[in-house]
Amino acid sequence: MDGNHDNRYIFLGPPGSGKGTQAKIIAEKLGLPHIDMGSTIRAAIRNETPAGVEAKRFVEVGELVPNEIVIAMAEERLNQDDTQNGYILDGYPRSLDQARALENYLKSRELGIMVLNLQVTVGNIIERLTSRLMCSGCSAVYNTKTNPPKVEGVCDACGGKLFVRADDKPETIQNRFKTYEDETAPLIGYYSERGAIINIDADGSIENITNNIVNAIS
Ligand SMILES: [Zn+2]
Repeated sequence: MDGNHDNRYIFLGPPGSGKGTQAKIIAEKLGLPHIDMGSTIRAAIRNETPAGVEAKRFVEVGELVPNEIVIAMAEERLNQDDTQNGYILDGYPRSLDQARALENYLKSRELGIMVLNLQVTVGNIIERLTSRLMCSGCSAVYNTKTNPPKVEGVCDACGGKLFVRADDKPETIQNRFKTYEDETAPLIGYYSERGAIINIDADGSIENITNNIVNAIS
């Protein structure tokens, strides 16, 4: 699994590690599709793919989409033509079940994958998340420390009011951590055993982290 990963990468990292931001930047740099699982699920439902139709039944009644349907939506996405030269997975796999399914999928095609594990110290994450602001008008994201708006509390783009997302409140952060620890952290062990993980120092600025990733994979 370690060899032959070509340009297939999984981005792993706890809430606030900047995983989504980095996945997007690196995908653009390498000219690869950024496969964000949240968007993939929404697109599958919207486009009424076979798995998307299944998923919709659960979403409509506010239930969690079963694991096998999530796996099916991921595979539908990986089967699309734009994945030939590689891709960056963001938000998938999220559990050992999903990791095993992905491994089987790749093995049957004699392909490998490499995991980039963004490591951040806990204090840093809490500081980053609690300083994050979102625009109530256009959903633009700001950070009071690293990317402040020109006028405090007001969106540069649309003049909308900025607020702290419920997800970013300290009590919620603790819960998000617990979920990450329980479900996603075991993936680090899983991929370490397979020699398919690269640890990335993700404590610095966005630019520093991007450089760390580029150095690690080039
Ligand atoms: Zn705005």
